[in-house]
Amino acid sequence: MSEAPKKPKRVINRQKTKTPMREQDPKNRIYNFEEVPLGYTLEEAVNEARRCAQCKDKPCTHGCPVGIDIPAFMLLLGQGDLEGALRKIKEKNFLPAICGRVCPQEDQCELVCTLNKPDKGRESASVGRVERFIGDWARENGISATPEVAPPTGKKVAIIGSGPAGLTAASDLVQLGHEVTVFEALHKPGGVLFYGIPEFRLPKKILIDEIEGLKDMGVKFVMNYPVGKAESLDSIRSRFDAVFIGTGAGLPWFLNIPGENLNGVYSANEFLTRVNLMGGYQFPEKADTPVKKIKRIAVIGAGNTAMDSARTARRLRPEKVYLVYRRSRLEMPARKEEIHHAEEEGIEFFLLHSPIEFLDDGNGAVRAIRLQEMRLGEPDESGRRRPVPVEGSIKELEIDTAVISIGQGPNPILVEGCPELARDERRGTILTDPETMETSLPGVFAGGDIVTGGATVILAMGAGRKAATAMHRYLMTGSAKATATEAPARV
Ligand code: FAD
Ligand code: SF4
Repeated sequence: MSEAPKKPKRVINRQKTKTPMREQDPKNRIYNFEEVPLGYTLEEAVNEARRCAQCKDKPCTHGCPVGIDIPAFMLLLGQGDLEGALRKIKEKNFLPAICGRVCPQEDQCELVCTLNKPDKGRESASVGRVERFIGDWARENGISATPEVAPPTGKKVAIIGSGPAGLTAASDLVQLGHEVTVFEALHKPGGVLFYGIPEFRLPKKILIDEIEGLKDMGVKFVMNYPVGKAESLDSIRSRFDAVFIGTGAGLPWFLNIPGENLNGVYSANEFLTRVNLMGGYQFPEKADTPVKKIKRIAVIGAGNTAMDSARTARRLRPEKVYLVYRRSRLEMPARKEEIHHAEEEGIEFFLLHSPIEFLDDGNGAVRAIRLQEMRLGEPDESGRRRPVPVEGSIKELEIDTAVISIGQGPNPILVEGCPELARDERRGTILTDPETMETSLPGVFAGGDIVTGGATVILAMGAGRKAATAMHRYLMTGSAKATATEAPARV
């Protein structure tokens, strides 16, 4: 009788802290747009995967917005089965190289990791870095591990917006045998992953490869096509059997203070788009659109977008980059890693200051910003302590450029042209059935930032997947709702 194959032995690494990741030296990296963290080697990734305690209750999986079986992929990698680990991740997440880089793991899976005991000097398993390693390994070795495309169903689906929500929905729906067309307003697909998050945090090559993979599976992309202007939603509906709206939250908010219209005052969106999407930093050699020569720049805000703007500005070689925020360091919403990188790169934080006016240089351009000093009062409705002005304490900061990065609202072009699409009047977001992501228009689904307001890449991907599951059901049965006996959606 032949013996059953032996299970590979589990190797445990009892190292208390995360396996460190090498990074570009701050002295050098402020002169280039190349990626800052350099990634794990195979040995480092396996070493880190073996730190996972294989908890039976899997708190990390519950902490992950799409429920990746983290202990399972850690175990497979720890045993040297890279392809198995990739398959396990791809059951839930089709963009591991991207999520491994940009997900706020410290607030999700890593926060609730059993190993995470800061008071005992113990750190969580480095889930994000290991996920990134597996995603990169797969890309570099041409291993996709995506399921086969099902036979054609004859159904046609339109996806509006090519950010992470739209791309995930497109990937799932094409695999289920539907004919998928993505309509995108800009000239390059990827949404914020392309025009917002800079090259030094997310190399564009990774995104381009993923999109090429979708094209190989049969997804069609129509660029420079703002639905609502180029064609109405009604017309798209008449041409397709189902529609997914993933148009994101790209409408910048402003401070509404005097001088905001002066030359040299940008929204973060415009500034990042000029540099990331149009390649303004490579003007005139490789790009047609220049970005302004900057001497002193102030970025207003302290979220991820503000850190990206400040760190992008740093690489344009100005004399000074200031980051102005009305609360203290403790309340900064950006990821800790981004704040740390910004400080290492010499960005000067102007905390507890709020802009009250931009001053004119006499020629219609900004020459300075007036700042009101603040102190922290009682907590407001967000739970954070409310900034309160310190009477009479006003400063002037000499600048020639400012970037406003205080948040973004839903992209309005499509929704405003379609009043019958129910939305939240105050926030402008589209209202959907939480179970199916179907909107008030039958056969029209929505997900990502256009539904939640500005959130995260992984939440947008989770929404795209949830909608795709319901859309498939709608296309095949006429109803998006699951029956009582049906297996739950894949997310
Ligand atoms: P988006 O990514 O916004 O994509 C929407 C797409 O729809 C865009 O390409 C847009 O051009 C297109 N579109 C809009 N209107 C139309 C129309 N009418 N017709 C056709 N196309 C249209 N999240 C993280 O998890 N980690 C991070 O580190 C992080 N950093 C960020 C940095 C910046 C600078 C910004 C702005 C956001 C960041 N976020 C981060 C948030 C994250 O990127 C978003 O939550 C996510 O991209 C939302 O995905 P989405 O698919 O809903 O929309
Ligand atoms: Fe591993 Fe941490 Fe998840 Fe436990 S919580 S299974 S140690 S990653």
